[in-house]
Parts: sequence; C-alpha cells; structure tokens
Amino acid sequence: MPEKAAVIGAGTMGHGIAEVFALAGYHVGLTDAYPEALEKAKVSIRDSLSRLVKSSKITQEAAEQVFSRISFVGTVREAVEGASIVIEAVPEIEELKKKVFSQLDELTGSSVILASNTSNIRITSIAEGLRHPERVVGMHFFNPPVVLKLVEVIKGEKTSDEAFENAYRIVEKIGKTPIRVMKDTPGFVVNRVNAPESLFFCLLLEKGMAKPEEVDAFARGQGLPMGPYELMDYVGIDTVVHSLDYYARTLSPDYGKCRLFHSMVEKGMLGAKTGRGFYEWKDHRAQVPKAKPAENIDLLDVLALEVNEAVKLIEDAISSPEDIEAGVKLGMNRPFGPISVASSLTNAEIRAKLQKLHETFGVDVFAPAKSIAEGRLREIIQSKPAAQEKKEERAEAGGGVGTAAKYLKVDRPSSRVARIMISNTRNNLINHEVLTELEEELNRLWNDREVVSIIITGEGKNTSAGAQLTQYFSGPVDFMEASRKGERVYKLLQEIPKITIAEMKGYTLGGGFELSLSCDLRVASEDLVAGFPEVTLGLVPGWSGSQRLARLVGISRAMQYILTGDRRGASELVADGLIYRVFPPESVDEETVKLASELASRVSPVAAAAAKRLVNRGADVAYDSGLEMEAMAMGMLYGTEDLKEGISAFLQKRKPEFKGR
Ligand code: NAD
Repeated sequence: MPEKAAVIGAGTMGHGIAEVFALAGYHVGLTDAYPEALEKAKVSIRDSLSRLVKSSKITQEAAEQVFSRISFVGTVREAVEGASIVIEAVPEIEELKKKVFSQLDELTGSSVILASNTSNIRITSIAEGLRHPERVVGMHFFNPPVVLKLVEVIKGEKTSDEAFENAYRIVEKIGKTPIRVMKDTPGFVVNRVNAPESLFFCLLLEKGMAKPEEVDAFARGQGLPMGPYELMDYVGIDTVVHSLDYYARTLSPDYGKCRLFHSMVEKGMLGAKTGRGFYEWKDHRAQVPKAKPAENIDLLDVLALEVNEAVKLIEDAISSPEDIEAGVKLGMNRPFGPISVASSLTNAEIRAKLQKLHETFGVDVFAPAKSIAEGRLREIIQSKPAAQEKKEERAEAGGGVGTAAKYLKVDRPSSRVARIMISNTRNNLINHEVLTELEEELNRLWNDREVVSIIITGEGKNTSAGAQLTQYFSGPVDFMEASRKGERVYKLLQEIPKITIAEMKGYTLGGGFELSLSCDLRVASEDLVAGFPEVTLGLVPGWSGSQRLARLVGISRAMQYILTGDRRGASELVADGLIYRVFPPESVDEETVKLASELASRVSPVAAAAAKRLVNRGADVAYDSGLEMEAMAMGMLYGTEDLKEGISAFLQKRKPEFKGR
C-alpha cells in the first residue's frame, strides 16, 4: 500500500510540498481553510507538472498519475485520514499554528509524525500543550519546494529521537536533501548563517561607508548575478526589516541597532513591490546607476561573518559542519559554504577580520565566536556529529578496516585486499576533505602487513568526475597548495609498499583520471569515460597528471590527452597500454576484487613492493622539478581571466569565450 501524507494549507509552500510528496509516490490529502486557495493550488500543481513534462523530467502519463494521487479536500479530518505524516504550511502566525496542531493531535494516532514548515517559530512552542509533543518536528522546505533540494529537519525540545530520524528518512525518501538541526533556534541553519549580513549592509550605508551601487558593482565583479542591495530590493525591504526585528528579539539586541532600513519602510520604499527601494524599479528591473566598484569592501568580511555564525552553530551543538556546509550551498544556491571558506583560511586571518568589523561597527554580533577567539577554528570545523562518533566507536571496537572517513568507504573484500572508494555525491568529486581522508587511509594501510593490494575506485557507477571546482580558495598561493596536496597524496599510491590497482569505471575525469594514473595497475569497465578537461577550463592537470601521463605513455600521446580535452573509452586506453583488463560494467567491482586477490596471493609482497619502487624511481628523473613547475603554473593560472571564464562557463553550461589573458 502506498503511504499517505497530508498537507495543511495549500498556499505558496503547501501546494509545492504536496506535489513533491505525490511525485515521490505518496498519496496526498491537501486541504486549506479557503476553497478558492484549494482551486488555485490545483491550477498551480497542474502548471508545475506540465513544466516537468515539457522539460522531459517526467512523462505526460506520469504527470497524470501524480496529479491523481492528490486529493483536494475541504477538511483537515479528510486530509489526515490514513496519513503517516502531516505537514503544516499555514501562515507564519504562532497562535494559528498552535490551533492547527492541537486539532492534528486530536485527529491522528500517536505514531503519525506532525511536521511544521515554519520559517522561524519554535517547534517547542508549537508542540506545547499537546498530548504527544514528542512526534512534532520542523520540516523547513525552501521555495519553490519542487525545485530546491534542501529541507532543514528541526528537533524541538520534546521531539523524540525516533520521530526526528523518521522525519529525516522521509525527506530522503521524497528525493530531497535533509540536514539535521538539533535545536529549534532562530533562523535554524541557513537563515542564521545569513543573519549578520543584513545588519552589516545596513550599517555600511548608515555610516556612509559606501553607496549601494558601488557595493553592488563590486559584488557583480566577483561573479555574483546580483549585488546585495538589489537583492534586498527584490526580496522586499519590509521582509528584511521583519527578520532583523525578529533576530533583535530572539538572538541579540544588536540586530535592532541599525534603523536605516526601518526608515525606508516608513517612507514606503519597500523595493521592487513599491517601485522604489535602494533603486528605482521600472518594468520589474532595478535601475542601478553606473558606479565604480567599492574599494573599501572585502568579500572576506561577509564570508568571515558567515564563518563566525557557522562556528556558533557548531559550538551550541545545533548542527554539524557537514550539514551547515550542505545547507548553505543548497539553500542559498551557492558553490561553497562557510566550512570550506574556513578550511582555506587561518584562524588568525578570520579572527583579525572579525575583530576589525567588531571595532568598526561596534556590534557584538560581529565579535569572534569563542572558538575563533581561542584559536580553535580548525578543531571546531573538523568536529564530528554524534552519529559520526558512534560510527568511529564501532569501528574501534571491531578493529580491522573500520574507518572514521566521511567521504570514503573503506572495506576489506578479501583478507589481503583493501578497497578505498570515494563516496562524495553522485560523481564522487574530489575536494580538500577527500584528499585528507585518502592520505589518512593510505598512511594507515602502509603498515598493515596483511594487506598486499589496494583497490582505488569510486562508490557506484563512476570513479570520480574530478576535482570539486566550486571549493573556496583565498588566492593563488592557496590554490597552489591545494595542487601540492593532491600531488603529495597521489604520490603515496606510487610509494606505498603495496600493489595499487585503479578500478576505472564511468566518469573518470581530471583529478579522478590522475588518481587512477597514480596507481601501479589499472583495470576498466566497458563504460569508462576518461579524459583531462582541464585546459578547456583554463587549467592544467594539477594533481600530477601533467607529469605522470607522459611517463606512462610518452610525451606525444600525453599531449593528445591533455591538449584536446577529449573523452576516451576503455578500448583507446587499452591501445595506449594504460589498462591491464577490461570488464563488463555489471561485474567490474567483483572482477577487480578477484584480480586483486589473485595477485595478492601470487606475488611476494616484499618483492612486489621493491619492484614497484624500482620501476617508479627509475622513471623519476627530475620528476619533482616537474611537479614544482606544475604547482607554480596552477598558482599563476589562478589569476587569469580565462580561468574565471572557464569555470563560470562550465557552471552555466555554456561555451567559454577565452581571451588568452
Ligand atoms: P501562504 O499564505 O501562501 O499559504 C498559507 C495557506 O494556508 C493559505 O492558502 C491559507 O488560506 C491557508 N490557511 C490559513 N489558515 C488555515 C487553516 N487554519 N487551515 C488550513 N489552511 C489555512 O503562505 P506560505 O508562503 O505558503 O507559508 C506557509 C508557511 O511556510 C509559513 O509558516 C512560512 O513561514 C513557511 N515558509 C514559507 C516560505 C516562502 O518562501 N513562502 C519558505 C519556507 C517556509
């Protein structure tokens, strides 16, 4: 029997949430206090499904089935009949929500999860006075729910672990990405990380330090589609003021210290909706005067404020670094979140920025969080959530290949074979964290005398589509060090006294290809797609590929791979002598393990370790000089316009227009 969900309130969010559940196969009971709102929801859901059909996301037939799974009903009683989860999406008025929840508490059995889509109201308050407050959770969808992936799952003071984890799983089941918010604090995670920015941009104007058009010109110069003031005009100054007032009441009175936006609201300057805010609006467009980009603004000021807020959330055990990073990326549609920013800067840099902001603006919200003030930034952003610690304890208790890795899966498919699989999103992208964990695992396996061969691959269908291009780097030196780190970690595969075998399958591109090339042997799946796209992005293969490939296949062939950016299949790599065996996709995992086990049992581990060292060192004339040049080139390329163009074209899925500078 398919499960049923009920949605109470069929407005902007409610109708979208109902559609999301129906798309995932749920039957849905959708209700609203007003029949006309239900009629409007029907039309909106139909329109949205047609758009999905038009863009070939679903078939016409599927769209009709999805629609037929939604019952538009007049009462809450009918909507919740037989439902295992209820999501409330009525207006953001605490008394109204409490009334709806007391009705739901009466009408549903105690195992039914009751979720609120509230943006700000405490789950604990909503659940107050109910018979079963332990089943009340927050499920904060982002607008529009059908498009945006993120859902914050929020625990109230009385929410049971069981209800919380069930809600988390349901969000996964409907194809969304949940993050855990362990306490129902104002703004939860995403809005909280953002909160100090509105205050900062208000104070900046109030103190006459910059004009909106100068700051917006600066922001556009940094690659943002819209500057902060234009964005606030678009969202509505009244909405911004509403949030500032709310945070002033609940987080810190500092949020009430800037009055400039309030005076704009009093004058009716609400932005796009009244035709005037920071800018005049004509035909739905802001008339932004031409201006020179502000010179006294530093993007790092805003990023440091975000890092500061993220650190406070971790200190207060509200969310984990991993969830905060994912939440900000998905919720704000940004390529990187505050944790990757924090990883690429020093504690001292962030502390200095925050101290300066604190002194300049005189608000305590900008002062460094405790861990930053005490120099423990690194420690706090690497802290693990409770679930992760449990996994580690289990691993320690069980011994063997138990690992605390978050982005790798490590197992022992046979007694003398270890397997390391990158497990980071669908394409197994490689970033700073993946490299750190890979380094740790290889160092751990180094002294494991039982292991003779190590398989390196990705979890699922792909090895790895390459480096995560959307990480934050603070400048050329930082980028160069990231290149050096990849080189150092990959080189471990050549140095480790074990036979390293790359299992290449599906997408094995860029950094994923370099990872495979660093192994001693390579096997492939018939569906392999390998190549170096770097030069088409304005880069060079920066994790040893520019040096290693030529040593394996000769300069002429290496040029063909590196300069064309072509993608190649398994048979071409076999012809170039890069691949030892090819297997069908459905059995590649199994066959690779078989091969690794056979090898492990056939060779003398000491002889094999000595032999690979000899082969590698023999070809190693001036290798390190080559690596040095490669890393320098990466650093130099960081400053080019072509790199910016290459990456933004890649992200916008369009052809790049290179200028050669
Ligand atoms: P909305 O005004 O568009 O929709 C609310 C609907 O609830 C209306 O159709 C209204 O008729 C109905 N309603 C009112 N009282 C009701 C009752 N007693 N029983 C049943 N239905 C009732 O509001 P929205 O933008 O969809 O917001 C709903 C909730 O989602 C709010 O808590 C809001 O803070 C939150 N939220 C909104 C957004 C957003 O961008 N709009 C994003 C995330 C969360």
